[in-house]
Amino acid sequence: MENYQIEPVGFIQSPYKQKFAIPRQPRLVPEAKAKLIFSKEFSREEFVRGIEEFTHLWLLFRFHETADKGYSALVRPPRLGGNEKKGVFATRATFRPNGIGMSAVKLEGVEYKNGQLALLLSGIDLLDGTPIIDIKPYLPYSDAMPEASAGFADTRPETLMTVEFSEQAAEFLATQADKSLPEFIANVLKQDPRPAYKKHKAGTQAYGMNLYHYNIRWQVDGEHNLVTEISIER
Ligand code: SAM
Repeated sequence: MENYQIEPVGFIQSPYKQKFAIPRQPRLVPEAKAKLIFSKEFSREEFVRGIEEFTHLWLLFRFHETADKGYSALVRPPRLGGNEKKGVFATRATFRPNGIGMSAVKLEGVEYKNGQLALLLSGIDLLDGTPIIDIKPYLPYSDAMPEASAGFADTRPETLMTVEFSEQAAEFLATQADKSLPEFIANVLKQDPRPAYKKHKAGTQAYGMNLYHYNIRWQVDGEHNLVTEISIER
């Protein structure tokens, strides 16, 4: 058996500071912006010459937070309510042999400042600090297959969730310079990050997450999210 050692070409700076509440695929929350910061060896403009001609890129990355936790042959896709098992290679599950993920994301720009090369991206589904092992342009003529069917994941997950901000949360958001923040938070919550087994529980459930440097608390009752409090993370 051959072993490979792979060094990341860069790392992701993402608003998603923990796994919980990250969308389950890229582009589900288009407002999710990130920076790919190149490692020193690759921090030269030559490495990305021509990349701005492409609107979208494939990122290959390591599921670094869970890669050492192993894998199993069968997994329970959230799409199937966590009740049915599928083979790991028939899913996009994070716990998989080699722990490698792939995401097609939007390229918003290239930045080269003080000898540091970075790609500006959006629509990402990646945890802060994710190591990127390769980057390739997305090629619509070859990668887009409108005739393809995708079994249990054939359509974009439907969401009927509504999102409301408490008075405190709305007042807090109004003081922030980033005016896209309310829509970003709402679209993250509309993806319904709750584990499948909690979705049918009666009564109100309380949750929390960090996005950027914000601490966000919310309650879910049926299909309704109420963002109760937003504060700056200490
Ligand atoms: N688009 C990728 C793919 O298909 O390979 C990822 C799909 S995976 C289902 C998406 C989930 O991976 C996110 O919801 C998040 O919880 C998790 N995730 C993102 N970055 C991660 C990382 N660096 N380590 C472990 N889990 C991560």
